[in-house]
Amino acid sequence: AKVRGGNTYAWADDDGERGAAGRRLQVETALRSAVERGELSVVFQPIIGFEDEGVVAVEALARWTHPDLGAVPPDEFVPIAEQTGLIHGIGAFVLAAACAALPALAERHGPGLQLAVNVSAQQLHDPGLPRRVAEILTAHGISPDRLALEVTETALLSVDAGTATTVEGLDAMGVRIVLDDFGTGYSSPTLLKRHPIAAIKLDRSFVDGIPDERDDVAIVTALVGMAKGLGLLIVAEGIETPEQFAVLRDLGCDRAQGYLVGRPGALTDPPDVTAA
Ligand code: C2E
Ligand code: MG
Ligand code: MG
Ligand code: MG
Repeated sequence: AKVRGGNTYAWADDDGERGAAGRRLQVETALRSAVERGELSVVFQPIIGFEDEGVVAVEALARWTHPDLGAVPPDEFVPIAEQTGLIHGIGAFVLAAACAALPALAERHGPGLQLAVNVSAQQLHDPGLPRRVAEILTAHGISPDRLALEVTETALLSVDAGTATTVEGLDAMGVRIVLDDFGTGYSSPTLLKRHPIAAIKLDRSFVDGIPDERDDVAIVTALVGMAKGLGLLIVAEGIETPEQFAVLRDLGCDRAQGYLVGRPGALTDPPDVTAA
């Protein structure tokens, strides 16, 4: 590799291993100053109740547009942020930006609107997280019971006795913990028993196979049965078709999210809530 000076790297083989490593380094370098340069923003995707079909919550999703790299998707920059520790600053930015937008979103969707924000394993390992979350909520005058933090099964698996107090502290504050991408990790009932989980989000990979894949229907039926038995709320994510919506509603899911219901949008966009 030739270093051209500054942050610009040129690679002999752009699509091989070294190309990927070059891109990784470029993204990491750019990500270091993304928050302070105001390159990050947050979009919101509606979550509706299956029964009355009104918007009950919005999920905040991070967006990053870099002047040279363009739009970098979260599936690319979030893992890098996690590996470099940048996720703490990015997570705080997303939470604060989402809280700042909540009053305007609630004006659009109703005063009880809940806010869902994704958090990574590294954030759960930070014993200062509950205090930081409380500070941001207080600064924006938002009651903790309006906030849900979405964590993945793998993130929760990495929570040991030493860091469990972080999750418990958030729960004690009244913040809800939601298990995201449910079914893709270990889906261990022990996780649901051990931690104060309020809701699960069925992963899009199962929703994709509905109604045609019998296995997916069987898996969703079983997961819904387990969640219901444990008194958890069930959110189905990635719903793209009316057929998926109807089947998931009939299987007993409580809430719906996906392109059919509405795409993620900026606060300044017109509301995108398709009647499902
Ligand atoms: P997630 O939390 O499971 O979010 C759902 C993802 O599915 C979002 O992708 C959303 O735009 C997309 N999606 C929603 N409905 C549909 C649909 O009907 N069809 C399809 N094909 N996709 C749909 P996005 O915004 O690209 O985010 C990807 C992942 O990045 C998120 O998955 C989450 O794990 C992570 N992420 C995003 N923002 C943050 C953040 O602020 N903090 C952390 N730690 N992770 C974040
Ligand atoms: Mg999520
Ligand atoms: Mg998910
Ligand atoms: Mg995901």
